[in-house]
Amino acid sequence: NLTNRLAHVVKTLRGQARLTEENIAEMLREVRMALLEADVALPVVKDLIARIKEKALGQEVIASLSPGQALVGVVQQQLTEIMGGSQSALNLATQPPAVILMAGLQGAGKTTTVGKLAKYLKEKQRKKVLVVSCDVYRPAAIAQLQTVAGQAGAEFFPSEISQKPVDIALAAIDFAKRHYLDVLLVDTAGRLTIDEQMMLEIQQLHAAIKPIETLFIVDAMAGQDAVNTARAFNEALPLTGVVLTKLDGDSRGGAALSVRHVTGAPIKFTGVGEKLSGLDEFHPDRMASRILGMGDILSLVEEARSAVDEKSAMDLANKLKKGKGFDLNDFKEQIGQMRKMGGLSSLMDKMPAQFAQAAQQMQGGAQEKAMGRVEGIINSMTPFERAHPDLIKASRKRRIATGAGVQVQEVNRLLNQFEQMQKMMKQFSKGGMGKLMRGMGG
Ligand code: GDP
Ligand code: MG
Repeated sequence: NLTNRLAHVVKTLRGQARLTEENIAEMLREVRMALLEADVALPVVKDLIARIKEKALGQEVIASLSPGQALVGVVQQQLTEIMGGSQSALNLATQPPAVILMAGLQGAGKTTTVGKLAKYLKEKQRKKVLVVSCDVYRPAAIAQLQTVAGQAGAEFFPSEISQKPVDIALAAIDFAKRHYLDVLLVDTAGRLTIDEQMMLEIQQLHAAIKPIETLFIVDAMAGQDAVNTARAFNEALPLTGVVLTKLDGDSRGGAALSVRHVTGAPIKFTGVGEKLSGLDEFHPDRMASRILGMGDILSLVEEARSAVDEKSAMDLANKLKKGKGFDLNDFKEQIGQMRKMGGLSSLMDKMPAQFAQAAQQMQGGAQEKAMGRVEGIINSMTPFERAHPDLIKASRKRRIATGAGVQVQEVNRLLNQFEQMQKMMKQFSKGGMGKLMRGMGG
């Protein structure tokens, strides 16, 4: 994987002042292999390698960075660039209702994403949302959307399999106008493979309803197939955005690179899990870290394996596997394990960037000493509080601070940082982190 490969090159680059054609050749080979392994399509890999080479060559290495580190920086930057640079928001700037058309293969997650988007728009943007199903091939699909709409708290516009998709959608638009609804999400049918009939149908639908957003929904686990599907949909429809679903599995995120490259459309959201709360805005820089970061964690394990307490690692692994959250009880245990592994500082440079950053902020200064303070704060909590950090309110905070001999602000800082870390652990828990912990368990 990418980071393992990079780590190797970083070592070989030690002691060189500049990045040159010769000394980065090996590194570029490694990056190329790693990207291919992560299911990134070949043309994308070629493009990316060319960009990295151009940016890296002749770059003066900043005093504080080794050439290897500088290279990793360039890779991260270019990964981010190729995924669009910055976050791209949903465009709703039109006369209401803002119509959003969902396109994609069957099983890609369209109906689920309609529910997730409805919930997101309702809760995050206070929009009044109407949803409608134009999937007239399976009665169950319409019923599924109705259920999902109920869960999301969105209005559902009924349809029947005897109707034509265009008629259904136009009637829904009319209803939305008359009831002053802000957004209309149009769910559509999808086939298991691309076929002309399906493409024709959705093209006609698109022409009739003129959506402000045409979102392509694609399964991140589809790997190389995602590229072909994306190409077909992109030729048939003027896509305005992509939703990458099922990013919760062992998916390595390679599809994010390919799909963006093929369609040119920004990835706007990612879907994680089947629950309606599982929708995240897409941030290219974070995805780049994810692609880069996984391996770091794994190499950390290699070193950790000999030192950690096997049983507690196993317990944690089981907990993560069961999908239970990572709480402060676990965190406390981890600090103890880090100690055994020779202190925090030796681990810092192996952590993914965000992770290390969170840990650094948490320390706020001298590493081991600060870690001791963190441990003190956690020790002053009850097991219940450690398992439910979100329930720690003002009076509990005061008690904990007093117990640990610190200011309440320090408790706040720890809780904030922990929340960030928890989010990250969630991302890793089913993919890299789950593997990591199983590895630790032996
Ligand atoms: P559609 O045919 O495109 O409408 O796909 P559905 O929305 O019916 O989803 C197909 C299956 O994938 C269902 O079992 C969903 O629960 C599941 N699914 C959809 N999105 C996600 C996701 O982001 N993560 C996971 N794990 N499952 C998902
Ligand atoms: Mg569906």
